[in-house]
Amino acid sequence: MFIETRGNDGKNPQKVNFSYAILNPSASFGGLYSPETLPQFDKDFFTRMSAKSYKELALEILKLFRVDIEESILKEALDLYDRFDDKNAPAPLVKVKPDLFVNELYHGPTRAFKDMALQPFGYILSCLAKKQNKNYLILAATSGDTGPATLDTFENRENIKVVCLYPDGGTSDVQRLQMVTAEGKNLKVIGIHGNFDDAQNALKSLLASESFKESLKKQDINLSAANSVNFGRIIFQIIYHISSYIELLKQNELKNGEKIYITVPSGNFGNALGAYYAKKMGLPVEKILIASNINNILTELLTTGVYDISKKELLQSTSPAMDILISSNVERVLFDKFGSTRCKELMSELSEKKSYALNESELKALREDFDAVYSDDEFALDTIALFAKEGYVLDPHTATCIKAYETIKPKNIPCVICSTAEWTKFAPTMWNALERNEKICGDKEALHNFSKTLKVRIPECISSLFAKEVKHPNVVEKSQIEKSITDFLKG
Ligand SMILES: *Cc1c(COP(=O)(O)O)cnc(C)c1O
Repeated sequence: MFIETRGNDGKNPQKVNFSYAILNPSASFGGLYSPETLPQFDKDFFTRMSAKSYKELALEILKLFRVDIEESILKEALDLYDRFDDKNAPAPLVKVKPDLFVNELYHGPTRAFKDMALQPFGYILSCLAKKQNKNYLILAATSGDTGPATLDTFENRENIKVVCLYPDGGTSDVQRLQMVTAEGKNLKVIGIHGNFDDAQNALKSLLASESFKESLKKQDINLSAANSVNFGRIIFQIIYHISSYIELLKQNELKNGEKIYITVPSGNFGNALGAYYAKKMGLPVEKILIASNINNILTELLTTGVYDISKKELLQSTSPAMDILISSNVERVLFDKFGSTRCKELMSELSEKKSYALNESELKALREDFDAVYSDDEFALDTIALFAKEGYVLDPHTATCIKAYETIKPKNIPCVICSTAEWTKFAPTMWNALERNEKICGDKEALHNFSKTLKVRIPECISSLFAKEVKHPNVVEKSQIEKSITDFLKG
């Protein structure tokens, strides 16, 4: 069962099951649903699972959580991992140095790790909607990776419509093309004049608009969200951390029970939260190392105990999916460690004063599970070039993990870093890392140059984008968004 991170307001149910939590993700006082207890692995779990496939392992873990979804639906959802490059290993673990392993989470249809969770999640959400005979609208604002992955998973799914807002000029060409060439009749993609914040604010004011709510009601459409705080995504993000450990056992890199570091390039903290839950369930993890870019709010929190955005402005970096000031899933860790009363207090301080401070013992408790470090674009570009020379290609997000590997890993035990995107999504940055001539070229040229120089292949789903028909050419002013959406819903 799931309970609320900021306590119960007397109107919402006290406890809800999995399907309720994923269809109605917002809890009392603006909080989130979190598991009341976590299942625990027995001593032999990991060796027992060594003989199983990724999908079989995933099913075991979902069963441990006793989710209220029929097994046949869970299996069909997990079959979507067959769409990944290697259906037997959707998240392959690659050894890069004697103590450094990369958990490659980007082999899905949109080449970002968002697919690991959104592929099965989208299927389950659609099945639940169909079973309840309800229609849902999923609204998404994206800075680049969430949009394509959300559109792909819901393409032509029954009882679901998706509207995706992106900032025109604020994404890479590849990311934009992934969205505007989306084919499903139930999908609508709208570019807006403005940046990601404008897209997100437009979405927020839409959700508050009475006329919009009225028109949804008339058409019998319910709102839901597929964003990274939805527990239906988090649950699938626990699994790949466990599979990386089992892979290390299989490859004889460690003995059952020996500990590892897990390093995560962090934005909204979903990936890191998955690792935290896995650790609490009994995965032998020494610490979870959080890598940030120059938007280093998580590093500040985990090293000083202070979360203060009052004087911070969002900075643009070469790892845009980590350009975040409010990291939403941190709330679930605060709740898990300090309870709902304290969690609610801290979250109110954040919204009122734009900052909160943990006391000494709270900081100590956080640091038992986490440490963090940040790096700048220079570091990312140097690291990309250095690793490419040695034969391994890291995208700009994954490159930030190397800083953690080099500086906050005191013990000589295996370090698994999570690779969250394929290089092809950020080709201009990749090519610039090799060339360093300040001449930034477009995605098409950069893809070609980088691939030719390093002899790495570009998957068909990326190279074919440039010749695909654009289905969603519209770029509108913020004032036109509501009308575009209502027209789409009627049509
Ligand atoms: C979404 C994303 C991240 C951040 O993941 P969180 O779970 O939000 O911390 C990092 N890298 C890439 C490429 C992403 O798309």
